Amino acid sequence: MKEIVLVKLGEIVLKGLNRKNFEDTLIRSMKRRLSKIGSFKVRAAQSTIYVEPMDDDIDMDDVTECVSRIFGVAAFARACTAEKDLEKIKQAACEYLRDVLEDAKTFKVEAKRSDKKFPYKSPEICTEVGGCLLETFPHLTVDVHNPDVTVTVEIRDFAAYIRSDLIRGAGGIPVGTGGKACVLISGGIDSPVASYMMAKRGLELIAVHFASPPYTSLRAEEKVEELLRRVARYSGRIKMFTVPFTHIQEQIRENCKEEYFTIIMRRFMMQISEQIARENDCQALITGESLGQVASQTIGSVACTDAVCAMPVFRPLIGMDKEEIIEISRKIDTFEVSIQPYEDCCTVFTPKHPRTRPVIETVAAEQNKTDCEALIKEAVENVKITVIQ
Ligand code: ATP
Ligand code: MG
Repeated sequence: MKEIVLVKLGEIVLKGLNRKNFEDTLIRSMKRRLSKIGSFKVRAAQSTIYVEPMDDDIDMDDVTECVSRIFGVAAFARACTAEKDLEKIKQAACEYLRDVLEDAKTFKVEAKRSDKKFPYKSPEICTEVGGCLLETFPHLTVDVHNPDVTVTVEIRDFAAYIRSDLIRGAGGIPVGTGGKACVLISGGIDSPVASYMMAKRGLELIAVHFASPPYTSLRAEEKVEELLRRVARYSGRIKMFTVPFTHIQEQIRENCKEEYFTIIMRRFMMQISEQIARENDCQALITGESLGQVASQTIGSVACTDAVCAMPVFRPLIGMDKEEIIEISRKIDTFEVSIQPYEDCCTVFTPKHPRTRPVIETVAAEQNKTDCEALIKEAVENVKITVIQ
């Protein structure tokens, strides 16, 4: 029996004229992501995308797992295909849904007949298939209001499809349809969650990570790569730029007042990220900041970092509690990696008493005690690029 995955589109069906573009982008990223598993035919018709395996040895669990992480998918289901012949459909339903129906007490059948040439109307299909299921599984009863399982028979142009309930998809809108943004990624809990949230709103991602060897280790960089690999299960491929940050931090330490170390460091991060973002056609930066979480995330500190950046900065976690952020990080499987205890450049040279209400002009004057332009140029020229997929 041939199995396929039927994918129902999410918000994108609402997008009027853009719909075709959204659908094409979704299909393209679906093909790219599925190509790791095997070869597939992916096509759209009647607000459904059909994912059809072309190799015999494809594990359908891998396919549904992959599809469950693709943004723009509202719901999906595995389905079996049958010839458009009522007897064959009945037989297929009994065989294909055996496991789910054996575990259920009640069911109902729904029919969607988009091929109007099919000789039976929807109510007849329901009665026929329902009757056959009742005969094969005598423990079942029909419940049209609140069934344990809804069996759906879809009569489409190419074939008939039989499935049980739809599974909720990742939601959001297809990655790439909203433009491209650059996420500042640390090894912590927050920035991977921020990345996931903005990819969900249709942004393609690149990532910038600041590393300060020998104060930070190679293991810390590998941890960030692993985090991005997990984000990439949702966002698709991410180009990662690792920026050498040691010289900048040492220059800050030598030239600036200690209470401003962190805020100045964060301004350098924004400036460097913005430059990398522009060179890579991004239109925004993303950070994992949450208001009041630490001294560098007060309203005054955010003003100081925003002051050096002309691009919009998206901070999707700004109004969230740590617990809420952790809940998402568990859901997307980044939490366990994030809590591995490797140092971040933010934790070297941290001031004992950071300013929580920094004045922009004072911070700027302090930062200007370093040779900002040369330092930024040097950092950008020495980035290491890694493609994460
Ligand atoms: P996270 O859990 O994401 O590390 P955090 O609560 O530790 O966040 P900070 O260390 O103040 O907060 O960092 C705030 C934001 O700055 C991070 O969410 C991230 O976007 C960015 N950031 C911090 N450190 C780095 C780094 N080494 N490289 C790139 N971006 C960073
Ligand atoms: Mg951090």
